[in-house]
Amino acid sequence: MKTLRLTNAAPDIRTAGELLKQGELVAIPTETVYGLAADALNGAAVENIFRAKGRPQDNPLIVHIADLSQVEDLTAFVPPVLQDLADAFWPGPLTVVLEKSDLIPDEVSAGLDTVAIRMPSHKDARAIIRAAGTPLAAPSANTSGMPSPTTAEHVLHDLDGKIAAVVDGGPCEVGVESTVLSLCTRVPRVLRPGKVTPDELFEVLGQVEVDEAVLGRLADDAVAASPGMKYKHYSPKAEVYLLNGSAKGFAEYVNARPAEETVALVFDGEEDLVRCRTLPFGAEGDPAGQAEHLFDDLRQADDWGVKEIYVRCPSDEGMGLAVLNRLLRAAEYRVIEV
Ligand code: AMP
Ligand code: MG
Repeated sequence: MKTLRLTNAAPDIRTAGELLKQGELVAIPTETVYGLAADALNGAAVENIFRAKGRPQDNPLIVHIADLSQVEDLTAFVPPVLQDLADAFWPGPLTVVLEKSDLIPDEVSAGLDTVAIRMPSHKDARAIIRAAGTPLAAPSANTSGMPSPTTAEHVLHDLDGKIAAVVDGGPCEVGVESTVLSLCTRVPRVLRPGKVTPDELFEVLGQVEVDEAVLGRLADDAVAASPGMKYKHYSPKAEVYLLNGSAKGFAEYVNARPAEETVALVFDGEEDLVRCRTLPFGAEGDPAGQAEHLFDDLRQADDWGVKEIYVRCPSDEGMGLAVLNRLLRAAEYRVIEV
């Protein structure tokens, strides 16, 4: 299959909408990461997402909408608090998990009786949803397990020849996936951290819990509240290690490794800390900046063909929780105290 390269100009957005209506797969920009979209109400189209990504069948997808009125049809029950969340965070990088309606194909919910819904703020994403005339199921547009794509080039690196088209809307602003919040638990629960932080959710909800799988490793036999959390994720081919401690401790540890096979992900301004190649991934106190560059840096390290990636461990404050969550999974929980 030849993958069409589309721009975000109006005629190309219409083409993307037509392809989606026909049941094809189109990668689309969103403010978080690029999504691999299909008509969410077409089970056969959605099944192709799993095939193109090599995604495990039991990992459900997020349904993307452009208007709040679309929630009604997709869900069995809309809790009143959804309006407050929508007022505060939609359109934007918050996904809510609700009881699903019969319209949702099993392929989308992966057999669960819930559905994850998000209204993205990216103008191209919204235009494409409207052009398709249907909600779009879309996981990240990467090969399963690889770092999520934050540019159209990342998408093509993984999926060229496997999908009908990619719409190039430039680099993603947020850089990590949406916050996933379940409204099906007694107390609303963060299943995956993102730009919308637990503190911001607490302001609106008055109560919120963070699932233990956000920073911990699930036991092999544990049932994940969010099935995606049990998989190795966001991982480049090189082995990733998080080094927790001072800049000096980091430098000593990394400099003892073979420089030509190693890359260090450092905070901005620390490029001269070590002998091996470095990739700055944001300022030390700026988790939003770190999130924006993280996946691009992990992919860059792979392009260089290095064996080991050492990362300065970021703080878990605010949006840092999302950055740390992705890094822990990329590193398969290898954290070394230095
Ligand atoms: P990704 O598509 O790559 O952003 O992955 C979507 C994330 O949303 C995964 O971590 C899924 O496990 C999670 N998710 C999707 N639907 C549900 C659901 N119904 N309940 C809980 N988590 C969900
Ligand atoms: Mg993903």
